[in-house]
Amino acid sequence: MKISSELKIFSGRKIIKRLAGTGRVGIIALAVSCFLFLSALFLSARTDKPQEKSGKPALVAVLGATIIDGTGREPLPDGVIIIEGDKIKEVGPAGKVKIPKEAHKIDASGKWILPGFIDCHIHLTSETSDLEYYRDSNSLATLRALQLMNMYLRCGVTAVRDVGSHLEAIRAILQAQKKGYIDSIRIYPCGYLITITGGHGYGMHGSMAADGPWEWRKAVRQMYASGFKHIKISPQFTLEEARAAVEEARMLGLHITAHGGGFSDTIPPTMTKVAIQAGVECIEHLNEMDDETLDMMAEKGVYNVPTLMTYYASYQRDDINRFLIEKRGWSMAMHETLFKKAYARKIVMGIGTDANGEYREMYPQIYFDEMKYFQRLGMSPMEVIVCATGNGARILGLENELGTIEPGKAADLQILKSDPLKSFDNLGNPETVILRGKIYKF
Ligand SMILES: [Zn+2]
Repeated sequence: MKISSELKIFSGRKIIKRLAGTGRVGIIALAVSCFLFLSALFLSARTDKPQEKSGKPALVAVLGATIIDGTGREPLPDGVIIIEGDKIKEVGPAGKVKIPKEAHKIDASGKWILPGFIDCHIHLTSETSDLEYYRDSNSLATLRALQLMNMYLRCGVTAVRDVGSHLEAIRAILQAQKKGYIDSIRIYPCGYLITITGGHGYGMHGSMAADGPWEWRKAVRQMYASGFKHIKISPQFTLEEARAAVEEARMLGLHITAHGGGFSDTIPPTMTKVAIQAGVECIEHLNEMDDETLDMMAEKGVYNVPTLMTYYASYQRDDINRFLIEKRGWSMAMHETLFKKAYARKIVMGIGTDANGEYREMYPQIYFDEMKYFQRLGMSPMEVIVCATGNGARILGLENELGTIEPGKAADLQILKSDPLKSFDNLGNPETVILRGKIYKF
């Protein structure tokens, strides 16, 4: 973050304190902090919106870069990408693509261009500590989410699936995006994650409890009514409850994913199998799956988001429930073995972070560390890039809209100064990010 924007946020805090001191109502402080935060958001990057001429969408031509398109295809050297408005219009080698005279040209010779990355598992509003949990508000949660979204934009992560957050905060962000109040990355939220009374996630700000199939149906309908297109379920649940949620999601045209396996000692490892039998599209994490479960996933085309780094961090801090470590054999070896088995079965995997509470400080680097972890476990750099782009879009059910550099797809791109196929060390540091056709230079 540039010093100027940090200063702005800092002076924002001072003003809030002063207002609080004079006893003004919190709403003024919130308005001021929102204004300063958003000013910082806009001023921190140089944006370059190509002018629309005579009502036609603006044209941009990105020239000379090596294109890594997110499909896994061989890189295309000296490529041309034509963007029209917020979509990619044409892609091809130099000399084969006609460059419109009126196009705004970006010379990216000697650089690499990739689709924007996708985080399939995040909780944008999660608190940073237990203390913050008790002192939290929807307003603060909204600003926390925006902070992370802005951080991700600079790093080339242009879309996230939020799998459980403060409902009002997330709705406010969606509405603010729609009205053009804020300019930020794409979010695909589930609203509250749905669990049973006492289940995993119960009592979290981003969760709701439901018991019995009809309550589960109603919970899905509530998320639908709140404007969400994705559903996240979390154990425990009976097959009837999970099935009710899946049926309801299908009827309403929503995507549905499930937290896989247990987390606390009360959650049976069979939950993942139940979720797959019920028909979810995706399993979050690689916890306690037997070969039969993995075979079922592969056969039904169920996706997986391993979130290895957040488990790695919790084992480092010895933070995972002792029962899981000692009695159920939880360790990175378990996650790694399951990763290799999933990879061998060609289960489509995506990058997810899930760093909540004190782990939130791992953003944004955790995203790129997760990519490096995939590589260490045997994937080629190209395969990992596909996980972060094309696979991410599939997991979100948006493979026709996002995630690859192909005509008709969203113009969400990042230009890198070094070859990501040689090293992931410079990921997260793009020179230029293009989001919905708008150009951000850092
Ligand atoms: Zn999570």
